[in-house]
Amino acid sequence: MLPLPVLEQAKEELTDWQGLGMSVMEDSHRSKAFVSFAAAAEDKLRRVMSIPDSYRVVFQQGGASGQFAAVPMNLGTTGSAAYINTGQWSKKAVAEARKFLDVSVVADEAASGYTTTPVVGSFEVPENASYLHYTPNETIGGVEFEYVPDVDVPLAADFSSTIASRPVDVSKFGVMYAGTQKNFGPAGLAIVIVRDDLVGNARPETPTIWDYAAMAKADSMVNTPPTFTWYILGLVLDWILDQGGVEAMGRRNKAKSDALYDYIDASTFYANRVERRSRSWMNIPFTLANSDLDATFLAGAGDAGLTNLKGHRSVGGMRASIYNAMPMEGVQALIDYMREFERTAA
Ligand SMILES: *Cc1c(COP(=O)(O)O)cnc(C)c1O
Repeated sequence: MLPLPVLEQAKEELTDWQGLGMSVMEDSHRSKAFVSFAAAAEDKLRRVMSIPDSYRVVFQQGGASGQFAAVPMNLGTTGSAAYINTGQWSKKAVAEARKFLDVSVVADEAASGYTTTPVVGSFEVPENASYLHYTPNETIGGVEFEYVPDVDVPLAADFSSTIASRPVDVSKFGVMYAGTQKNFGPAGLAIVIVRDDLVGNARPETPTIWDYAAMAKADSMVNTPPTFTWYILGLVLDWILDQGGVEAMGRRNKAKSDALYDYIDASTFYANRVERRSRSWMNIPFTLANSDLDATFLAGAGDAGLTNLKGHRSVGGMRASIYNAMPMEGVQALIDYMREFERTAA
């Protein structure tokens, strides 16, 4: 979901952006208007996330999946890396990294069916690992770290589904990346925030468009970027700043997720099996006690204007993704529907 004011502004400007008599999509990415808009969007991201000056911000295509390869190509200087496996996105990151590096999985939450995060201090990272990679929020399983691992090697993190959902100390990371399509706008870009000293060490065969140093040097315009995605990202960042920044997002997201978990936990009709300390603020999977009712539940939800609630095909059940733009009223509408469904179906 995108914020309504963003969609309305985009609609307004679709045929006449910045008085140019055309859409941002029709302008050149090298135009004065776009280049300055793009730079301003980076500044806004720096403000929203309090990114230190010692970090480069790079926008790359290929989404978060592209970064599963870009991270080992750019950071894998020792030939090996450590990964934490907390579910489906971690697994994909591991599989891709194995094409480039010797990967050791230092923590794997398989025993819990991927409903947990490793206990603090329960794993060790080999000294020669170039970095430790983890997935702060597993979007499909709804499992989120409530802490940032404290290790002696650079930390690499896939923030796709939780970026800008609350304040986070960027200085704890070597690289953080996220596809734009969850909290920031349409698909098309990955945001990469990488510490200066980790830029410029890419293996020689790294394609230029995946090389952090080449992209940073060219202000992320080695080639034509998806300008419309970048434009919407800029508008979403304005909206976040207007709302009070990541502090306000964090308060709102905590309240939204608390409301839904409290309702699910108080019910015997619905369940969420993620351990409490690792529950996601962004993606809340839940099951019905009787899965024969799933299809009826989803059809009724659709009629009530509550969409995209079907769980990922790999896990079934339901999943409520309540990203930044979802207001409390949207969560309340879901709870009201769930209560009414239980009353009539149970
Ligand atoms: C959605 C998602 C991805 C995949 O993003 P793409 O941009 O489609 O490659 C990767 N990691 C996480 C945590 C995600 O939520």
